[in-house]
This record gives sequence, structure tokens and C-alpha cells, in this order.
Amino acid sequence: MIWSNWARTATCSPAGRARPRSEAELAEVVARAAADGRSVRAVGGGHSFTPAATTSGMLLSLDHVSGLERVERLPETGNALVTVGAGVRLHQLNRMLAARGLAMRNLGDIDRQSIAGAISTGTHGTGARLGGLATQVRGLRVIGVDGTVHDVGPGDPLFEASRLGLGTTGVLSAVTLEVVPAYDLVAEERPVPLAEALESLDGPDGVVATSDHFELYFFPVTGRALTLRNTRVEPAPAGRVARARRAARSFLDEELLSNGAFEMVNRLATAFGGLTPRLNAVSARGLSARTYQAPSYQVFCTRRRVRFREMEYAIPRERVRDVITEVDDWLRASGENVPFPIEVRFAAPDDVWLSTAHGRETAYVAVHQYWRLPYTRYFEAAERIFVTAGGRPHWGKLHTRDAGDLAPLYPRFDDAARVRLEHDPEGVFHNRYTRKVLG
Ligand SMILES: Cc1cc2nc3c(=O)[nH]c(=O)nc-3n(C[C@H](O)[C@H](O)[C@H](O)COP(=O)(O)OP(=O)(O)OC[C@H]3O[C@@H](n4cnc5c(N)ncnc54)[C@H](O)[C@@H]3O)c2cc1C
Repeated sequence: MIWSNWARTATCSPAGRARPRSEAELAEVVARAAADGRSVRAVGGGHSFTPAATTSGMLLSLDHVSGLERVERLPETGNALVTVGAGVRLHQLNRMLAARGLAMRNLGDIDRQSIAGAISTGTHGTGARLGGLATQVRGLRVIGVDGTVHDVGPGDPLFEASRLGLGTTGVLSAVTLEVVPAYDLVAEERPVPLAEALESLDGPDGVVATSDHFELYFFPVTGRALTLRNTRVEPAPAGRVARARRAARSFLDEELLSNGAFEMVNRLATAFGGLTPRLNAVSARGLSARTYQAPSYQVFCTRRRVRFREMEYAIPRERVRDVITEVDDWLRASGENVPFPIEVRFAAPDDVWLSTAHGRETAYVAVHQYWRLPYTRYFEAAERIFVTAGGRPHWGKLHTRDAGDLAPLYPRFDDAARVRLEHDPEGVFHNRYTRKVLG
């Protein structure tokens, strides 16, 4: 039976599929598949745009290895170490944490991914003082080729190679995260001219440095942008939380990216390409100011019902204004039919071996295209600009780079390769994509 990802950019016909109900069963399935000479891939939510999760061997779903195992409070900080089954989806995890007065330090745009898939591909949110989801990991249990369960933590090379490793060191069965006390976000959405938004980004008084979480959306060619600034605050009292939750529909969520009207805009753009500049102008003019407060995970994560394709590169933060301007200039000059906005986010430098933010202050620039429209020419042009700026592609989003291109961008690339070879000399945990990008 054919498996396909969310974006319909990757399919495969696995020789076998399994949904183990426990870590012991998972270990048995892995060992048996490896002994039979089959390759093994775990799949989470299938939300990678790349063929990261595809296989012709054994495809494993960890949907049933997703329970909450342990919560260890850390009195000195108020934080907690939380161990969960690696297949847990982020929306399940967020609810588990909220019920215990806890929350993830940062999250991406959606909550449909599994924690294992999200960390394995370097999923991130935005916040110049914060890292991606893999930086929140404090321990892992990794199932090796012979079914051995390796319980590893910081400093162990297997941990370092596995907390963001595209599943190439083994199947993750459990993840321990350091989480923080639950918090609300005050979300401020503001429409501004793109030039003004770009002007306000930099420097110690710039909006990136002074915001807990800052994000920018703009519609190609319109010169208009929407800035999103989230400030972390104490949770509102219970009654207010309920009210806030009702009001917690951001403009972006309710009126732009996920709603039926935006689907219609994209269908119109698909049928009548000449209309796109006017449609973009209408979408951009519709951007409106809004402020609301809600529990963090409800603000971070929106619904994305309009299907799209995406490429995202991590670029050195100081290059972001030039990169955005160059992409917008290319769109103006080419007249390419693009009814989707461009998204810009930020992250702190981190020490995760294969993190796209490894060792440098990072801006993420993401280009999207409606799934029924061609994306190749647009993404190729954007990728040329990103690569020239020293960009590293998101491991789970569309790109054309290979291991030869990527190795020089990651100081620990060879260390990760060494760990993979040591733990999986036959390449059981590889697929065509991982061989291409990791060697
Ligand atoms: C609508 C949408 C919005 C998105 N928003 C963001 C965003 O805001 N920020 C961002 O950074 N990314 C974002 N992404 C990308 C997405 O977060 C990543 O691609 C992520 O990997 C998806 O998680 P998943 O569970 O679907 O993983 P999958 O795509 O199923 O798998 C990804 C990789 O993880 C491996 N894997 C999965 N489970 C295991 C396991 N148990 N052990 C070992 N390896 C495993 C797979 O083999 C594969 O290599 C978005 C994607 C979509 C479609």
C-alpha cells in the first residue's frame, strides 16, 4: 500500500508496516527487520515536505508509543523533565503538559507532528533568544539495529547525533524534554509596510532583539507585511483563560492561512494566474491589527487547512534584509504566480550538531506555494539566493542540496557521520533522502 506525506511531495511503497504497542515490541520489530536485511524508517505525522520518512523497507508508526512516562520537577527553576513516548503528537503533548501546569519553551506553527519527527528534522519556532525543539531535549531512548535500547543524555555522542538525526542512528522510542511552567502569550499582530518592518528588525533596540517571539509575513510584490510579536506573561486566571481561549483566533489563523476564503483565493490564482497580483493586494489589505492573550501553545500553533509546498532556509541573521529584498525583487521581475505569503522567523545559536541554527544567530526565510500551482522555478530562484547567503536548508522542507554541499556548513557533520557508522554500519536506518543529504 502506498504511503504519502501531507504535502503530497513524497510517496513510497513499504515492504512492511508495523504499529508496535510498546517499546519492547518496537525493539523486536526493528531487530527482526534488520536481521531480514530490510531497511527501517519511523514515521511521525508525515509532515515533512522532503522524502525524509519514505522507505521501501519497514515503515514504523509510533502512534501507540506515545504515553506520558515521567514528570520530574526541578525545584530550582520551576522547570520539569518530562519523558514521553516518541510517537506523541505535539497537540497531545501540549495538552498533557497544560494539565500539569507546564509548557514547551517554544513551538512551531502547527501541532500535528510527532515529537520524534519534529526534533529529528530540526523543527523550530521563532524567538531570537530561543532554540528549536531539539534544544529542549535532555534525554533519548534509541533502538539500535539489534533491538538494544540505548538510554542516552547530553555529552554522549549517540545523544548528540540522535537529537536531530533524521532517524539515522536508530528509532527513537522515548524523548525527555525540559519544559517550563505554563505561560500565556500576549499576541500583537500589526500590518506595516514591508520596508518599515525590515527597517525595524536589527540592532539592540530592534524588534527581533526586544521581542520574546517575533515573526514577519509578507505578500510578494505588495510591499505589505504583517508582524507578529508574542510576549510571555503569567497565565491569566481561570475565567479569563476561558474568555481568552474563545478570543484566541489570530488573524493569521482564522482569516488568512487556514480559512475557506484563502483556499478560494488560491483556487482563483490557479485558474487565472493574471489575477494573482490583485489577489495578493486584496489579501495584504485585509491584514488588520489585533491583540489577544491566550495559553502559549494556542498562540504558537495555528491550523493549516490550505495545502501548500514549502522551502525554508536558515540564513545568518545579518543577511536577512538583503535576502528578503532579493526574493521579492525576483518575484517582481519574473511575474511568477505566487498567492502565498513569505514567512520570516528567528532563532538563537545552538550547539545541536546538525541544527540549522548551529553556532550562529539565525533568520529563517520560508517560501510557500499553493499545492496545485507549480513551485519549481520559484523555489529554485529562492534557493539560489538562500545558498549565496550561506543558508542551510530545513531538513524537512524542500531543497536540492546534497551532503557535499552541506558538510562544509556544519562543523560537526563528520562527527555525526562517525556515530551513524558505528551504530549502523549496514545503513539499516537510511533511505535515499538521508544518503543524499548526509552521505
Ligand atoms: C503545515 C506544516 C507546518 C509546518 N510548520 C513548521 C514550523 O513551524 N517549523 C518547522 O521547523 N517546521 C515546520 N514544518 C515541518 C515539520 O515540522 C517537520 O518536517 C517535522 O519533521 C514533521 O514531523 P512529523 O512527525 O510529521 O515527521 P515525519 O515527516 O513523519 O518524519 C520526519 C523525520 O523524522 C523521522 N522520525 C519520525 N519518527 C521517528 C522516530 N520515532 N525515531 C526516529 N526517527 C523518526 C522520520 O524517519 C523522518 O526522517 C511544518 C510542516 C507542515 C506540513
